[in-house]
Amino acid sequence: MDALRKNIWLLFLLLVLSSTVLLISISVSRWNSLTEYYRVSQQGLAAQWFGAFSSILEQQEVILSLMGEDLLLRGADRPEDLRARLDDLMNLNPDFFSGFALISPQGEVLERTSNLDSDVTNILDAPEVRDSFAYALETDKMVLGRTYLTPRLVVPARKAIRNNQGEVIGVMTGALSVTGADGYFSQGHVLGRFNRVTILRSRDHYIQYATSDALVKNFHEQPMPPSAYGNLMQILQDVSEPASSGARSGLTSTAFRWDAGEERGMVRGVAIYHPRYEFWLISEIEDAFLIREFLEIFASYLLVLLAFTVSMYLLFRYIDRIEKGRRRELIFQANHDALTRLPNRNYLISTFDEWMHEKPAFSLLFIDLDSFKGINDNFGHSIGDGILVELAKRFRANTSHNELLVRHGGDEFVFLTAGSDRDQNEQRAAALIYQACDNIRAFNMTFSPGCSIGIARFPEHGAQLDELLRASDIAMYEAKKKRNSVASFRPSLEDHYLQRIRIEQLLRGAEERGEIYMTYQPQIDAAGQLHGVEALVRWRHPELGLIPPDQFIGVAEQSGGMGKLGNYIIDQSLGQIQTLCQRYKMQFKLSINISVRQFAEADFAEDFLKKLKNVGMPVHAVCLEITENLLIEDLEHFRGVLQTLHSAGVRIALDDFGTGYSSLSILRDLPIDELKIDKSFVSNIMSDDTSLKMVKNIINIGRIYEMAILAEGVETEAQRQILTDCGCDLFQGYLFARPMAIDALEKYIQDEASKPGPNVSIHSTT
Ligand code: C2E
Ligand code: CA
Ligand code: CA
Repeated sequence: MDALRKNIWLLFLLLVLSSTVLLISISVSRWNSLTEYYRVSQQGLAAQWFGAFSSILEQQEVILSLMGEDLLLRGADRPEDLRARLDDLMNLNPDFFSGFALISPQGEVLERTSNLDSDVTNILDAPEVRDSFAYALETDKMVLGRTYLTPRLVVPARKAIRNNQGEVIGVMTGALSVTGADGYFSQGHVLGRFNRVTILRSRDHYIQYATSDALVKNFHEQPMPPSAYGNLMQILQDVSEPASSGARSGLTSTAFRWDAGEERGMVRGVAIYHPRYEFWLISEIEDAFLIREFLEIFASYLLVLLAFTVSMYLLFRYIDRIEKGRRRELIFQANHDALTRLPNRNYLISTFDEWMHEKPAFSLLFIDLDSFKGINDNFGHSIGDGILVELAKRFRANTSHNELLVRHGGDEFVFLTAGSDRDQNEQRAAALIYQACDNIRAFNMTFSPGCSIGIARFPEHGAQLDELLRASDIAMYEAKKKRNSVASFRPSLEDHYLQRIRIEQLLRGAEERGEIYMTYQPQIDAAGQLHGVEALVRWRHPELGLIPPDQFIGVAEQSGGMGKLGNYIIDQSLGQIQTLCQRYKMQFKLSINISVRQFAEADFAEDFLKKLKNVGMPVHAVCLEITENLLIEDLEHFRGVLQTLHSAGVRIALDDFGTGYSSLSILRDLPIDELKIDKSFVSNIMSDDTSLKMVKNIINIGRIYEMAILAEGVETEAQRQILTDCGCDLFQGYLFARPMAIDALEKYIQDEASKPGPNVSIHSTT
């Protein structure tokens, strides 16, 4: 189709060319048939004229011979009734003949028909007659005289009458009237006004007769100029092949074309020569007429061609436009994302060179929506799509010509921004992005998805798109750690990144290889008794050694391995603790940390309750620790899951309380049983007044909502004292015990049980 588009105008040109060629060839053939038509018509006409004129002349010659002989040879005497007999003869053909006369060889008029009342007694006195009369005396045949006006135009014919000795004894003359109502040629038809028939005398080049009005007036007075006559004769001789036989056998018509002078221009016609009466019968048509006639036809052809060309042009233009539109659309599609209509990766790749060459420095922001997968999973893809579309619309509305926004994939966007002040640009871009993420409405719901932004700079962090993308991606992962934040690339992140990649690879299958195991950290109540344990996961790699959960939980979450790891943690903890409880016939609480990713999985609550049932652990003995950050991601969904668990009897603890974004309204809304004061507050509680205030606040909030308060990271007795004074119920920290493996925990329980005194005691279920 592309080739077609390229060639469509070539095709059009070809069409125009071939139709022009067609027009030319049709026109040429039309011209040929037109000239052929007029040639044949003229030929017929000339033959008709020639035949008719010849036969009347032959007839006249017979009449003149018979009449002359009759009048002159019968006796020496002239008959008395000579005039009466001439009159009789004339009356036989009153239409054609305008008179007869008998003339002596000396030119004296012996007798004439009574209609010819002339005082001419010797015709040799008339100069126009002299030549032909003299010629008549010399020859045997009838001789035509020059046409003259009497007042009608007449053609005189003379025939010398000879005695037995061959001497001329008189000349019989008859005048053929050629014009007028009953003139011989008055009936002579021509093809039209454009056609002229001429009878040209070959002896003296005078015109015997011509049909053209313009010439009729005086054609008989002047001979044809010798040069013109010569030219015409030359041409008639040169036309080697006679066009065809004339009407009468033995006579040939010759088609010719000659330059008839300025007035008439080129003329074409047919000529027939009469050798006896020595005249040319010529039918002519001016080329100008033929050209005019042809142009009329040609104009209609041209009009048709033009109409055809114009309609073809319109059609081709239409096709071309459609094709161009299609191409534009295809190019657009190839370079844009179908959902958001934003430029896509392809576009980024194809325009990146321009950015590199035109902008000395710019920043690339890699934007990744936090927990967009959760939105898709829980609300359906149409809502996810709606959010993306709205987000793209908002982004687009605020980007300037110095910026480019690209949908890089799923919930990832790339934002290029250039300008002199880079810090300011980056801030502007980040602010724009966060604004765009705020309060997006989709299907009557409002979402404010968080997003993590990684920034890399050209050219410091990479001279190629790949390098920049990688650097910004690394920075983005750094931002992801905190979620909903911005991080700029710095070389040290690269090490983290590489390590992260390494951890991701090594972590795969670590559960099966037995590298993952659980530790438990006791939680102590105000009375110093074991309240419960928090399950904390450990990974011991054969080469890397012990890797802290901070380093691999995030990796598992981001690489999609958290579901499996989380299940392993749950199974291990439930199994081990339940075994322990059964062995010692006692009951204490088990707290398990649950990652966002686990919560996002479908049927998490149902699966968890099933596991409890399978192990045989009482529902109220389990506490799930969730972080505040989990709540900002997708509150609606988590509320449902928490509600299910809570109504089944599972306790819910809010971990790291005070470090995140959760508001009081969230607390009121959710079924939370326990708040965990983050260890950062606890470690500063002695030195920092704000931390102390914060701790007091948390405890107050817990009271209001009737939640248990657990302080974690308690390392000193002093800390415990203050916390106790503030009203804290539960404690966890190195002051009491470090996290320990299950056999160590078993020993811990035994030790604690055997310890006397009120410090720590174990609730026994028995
Ligand atoms: P967290 O839930 O806040 O866990 C408490 C962390 O504080 C644990 O670190 C614990 O060893 C440490 N800790 C307890 N008492 C003290 C103390 O007195 N002083 C100090 N300095 N630290 C104390 P750990 O085990 O390295 O875990 C770090 C984080 O990793 C946890 O913070 C939790 O967010 C995550 N994590 C650990 N285990 C799991 C798990 O099984 N599942 C999930 N999803 N996350 C886990
Ligand atoms: Ca925890
Ligand atoms: Ca914590």
